[in-house]
Amino acid sequence: MRKSLHIKLVLIMVLLIVSLMVVVGAFLMNSVTGYYIDEFYQQIRDAFSQDNVDFVRYLQTATEDEEDGAAMVGAVLSTYEGVLGVDRRNRNFYVLDGATGRFLTGSAPEPEGGIPITPNISTALLGTVGDDSSVTADYMDAAIPITRGGQPYIVYILDSRETARSLNAEMFSLIMEALVLGLIISVLLSFLLAKTMVNPLQRLTNGIEGAARGDFSRKLEVTSGDEIGQLTESFNAMAQQLETTIAAVENERNKLDTLFLHMADGVVAFDREQRVIHVNPAAARLLGRAFTQEDTYAELFGDMFTFQQAESAPSGGLAGSRTVEGRYLELLLAPFAREGQGGVLVLIHDVTEQRKAEQMRKDFVANVSHELRTPLTNIKSYAETLDNGVGELPPEMEHRFLGVILNESDRMTHILQDLLTLSRFDSGRSELRLTTFPFAKAVDDTYQAVLMDAQNHSHTVELALPDNLPQVRADRERIMQVMMNIVSNAIKYTPDGGRIVISAGRAGDDKVWMEVDDNGIGIPEGDRDRIFERFYRVDKARSRQSGGTGLGLSIAQEIMLQHEGTLYLVDKEDPGLTICMELPVVGPREEAAHEG
Ligand code: ADP
Repeated sequence: MRKSLHIKLVLIMVLLIVSLMVVVGAFLMNSVTGYYIDEFYQQIRDAFSQDNVDFVRYLQTATEDEEDGAAMVGAVLSTYEGVLGVDRRNRNFYVLDGATGRFLTGSAPEPEGGIPITPNISTALLGTVGDDSSVTADYMDAAIPITRGGQPYIVYILDSRETARSLNAEMFSLIMEALVLGLIISVLLSFLLAKTMVNPLQRLTNGIEGAARGDFSRKLEVTSGDEIGQLTESFNAMAQQLETTIAAVENERNKLDTLFLHMADGVVAFDREQRVIHVNPAAARLLGRAFTQEDTYAELFGDMFTFQQAESAPSGGLAGSRTVEGRYLELLLAPFAREGQGGVLVLIHDVTEQRKAEQMRKDFVANVSHELRTPLTNIKSYAETLDNGVGELPPEMEHRFLGVILNESDRMTHILQDLLTLSRFDSGRSELRLTTFPFAKAVDDTYQAVLMDAQNHSHTVELALPDNLPQVRADRERIMQVMMNIVSNAIKYTPDGGRIVISAGRAGDDKVWMEVDDNGIGIPEGDRDRIFERFYRVDKARSRQSGGTGLGLSIAQEIMLQHEGTLYLVDKEDPGLTICMELPVVGPREEAAHEG
């Protein structure tokens, strides 16, 4: 760049100087010639004007018995050579015959071939003064007709213009010298200009090249207040602005990247060529596959909608769904377009948990209906039998039927109470009445409460209570409910004559636990995860027979959760079941609890 601009500067300067010199030279040389010609004719006119009476008179007045008029005219003219500017080298006078234009005499001998009849001589031959000049001719002349002693003569002044020519030649060489000097100065000037103009421009170019590579850190030095200086300043401001904008855009992109990276929903973006341009880890996880550059829309989602359909989807996008590895996915396909770019965005939302919750809700409603319908059907049929046979049934039968009706209504009440309790937990309306009480005492009370029942089933119940059990802060009634539930279950689901062990202890400094182990029917491996579900019972008939609702363990688990404790099955080899509850000593941290 430096070179080309430099050469341009030199060329401009040279052209400027040359054209200036040509114009000035031509003007000067023309002026000199013009001045010389004007001066010549003015001199002739002045000489022959009325003011120069003597000269004209001497020319025209013949002396007495004059023999050679032409010689006389020549003599007068010789006298007045100074007035006429005749120098006998470049300017001469001639006396011509007034009728023929023939040479008679002159300040110089007749030129070879005679004096040519110029236009001015022709004019004078006709009797008028010929003093027209021709700029193009290489001479200038004037022919003045006079009469002397009755004879016509022509006074002819001829100038070879040699003086003007030599003056012009001198001027030309002067101009050429000036031109050479001007050229030297222009080259020097162009170097100076290059230094003041090209160098800052070079710095600016370097800065711009740096900016093009993304380096905005370099601030260019402003060395002048001229246009280049202003340009540098503008560039610095622009670079600063660009740097800020790019940083802001980068920041936004980082935010978006982080969002994409960590969001639970999957996002896959395709360009107009249907190639994957963006995919987040959630999408790969949900779709259960890794993505490569070669993946296309058609192969991934083409089975739902064509790319054209997705591209021209309405504002809400197109909804689809699919099941991948047992997970339910909802998909939303929407086009995006920005500044010529665009494509299709696919959002993948995992609705498995929602579906499960929905299914559980449906199951729950079905279970509730079923659980209530059974006792209701029983009540209805026994009541109808009683109604139909009023007075006809034996009293002991009536008594038994009424007993069944009462039992079934109790069962319904029981179910409804349990449901109410659960619904309170669900809605968060169930507050704990926290008190501080000895944990060992609660375990012992439970043991005492079930002892009779256990004996009725010929079970042996063992209690293993260490001495160091601390006080706990909890809702005693609820904790007792949990304990009663798991011990009663052990009694219920252990065939008569079984062995039940209730033990308790500390887990670290901050927890206590109670474990109930039986050698009863246990729970099949596949059902272990489900026994805390609402209404879930391994053996419905057995449970119902023993007055179970299938809600006991669900309620127990809710109570433990509220206390920030846990209720879980302990793995064991022997037949039967071991269930353990664990409780923090200090009580739940979250004071949703109510002081008891
Ligand atoms: P239920 O009112 O039916 O006892 P629970 O919620 O207390 O309801 O228990 C759920 C189910 O878990 C019971 O129906 C039973 O099948 C199983 N279960 C609970 N405890 C035991 C146990 N100790 N041994 C075997 N199965 C049990």
